[in-house]
Amino acid sequence: EKFEQLMISEPVLRALNDMGFEEPTPIQQEAIPVAMSGKDMIGQAQTGTGKTAAFGLPVLERVDGNECHVQVVILSPTRELAIQVAEELNKMAQYTNITALPIYGGQDIGRQFRALKKNPQIIVATPGRLMDHMDRGSIHFDHVKVVVLDEADEMLNMGFVDDINKILGAIPEDHQTLLFSATMPKAIQQLAETYLTEPTLIRM
Ligand code: AMP
Repeated sequence: EKFEQLMISEPVLRALNDMGFEEPTPIQQEAIPVAMSGKDMIGQAQTGTGKTAAFGLPVLERVDGNECHVQVVILSPTRELAIQVAEELNKMAQYTNITALPIYGGQDIGRQFRALKKNPQIIVATPGRLMDHMDRGSIHFDHVKVVVLDEADEMLNMGFVDDINKILGAIPEDHQTLLFSATMPKAIQQLAETYLTEPTLIRM
């Protein structure tokens, strides 16, 4: 199968071509149609399988580039991953009006305020710093329609469970949730039971 058959829009197809992505990886084949349908999904996948585009491509199709509210929140365990995911999204979105902004602890908060004023539609954030912005009122969740928990097992291992609960509790209920995790321990299953509705499970 080809990206064209997965209902990816023309500007994004053009970017994928520039990036040298010729055909979808197995997890992309399976995850993209499910995620585009708006259903909740659990993807059990390691890094290197193409999981970023597996959630990134459907997310780009769900974002309205003409609306300047935050529409997607991607939670990431580390600053490195947040930067890398935002970079890949921005490459895939280069021919659209959509932008992704990484937000992470350790970076100057004033710089983050200025970047947020440019109205990115997608935020890729580590949980602690996102909480900080939430408390300061510098990020609003009223228009969030998709939440992605990337490397959810790593986020729990790093002790972010309380932050995740607070963030997810502050996002309007009517949204899609995509959860990615390399492993599926009990704590991840509990997280999924709390926040996902009839999720489709995809394992690679
Ligand atoms: P990830 O598992 O998301 O970290 O992706 C691993 C690497 O594969 C990254 O460098 C991606 O840019 C690349 N990649 C993802 N999907 C594809 C694809 N369909 N074709 C070629 N490379 C890809």
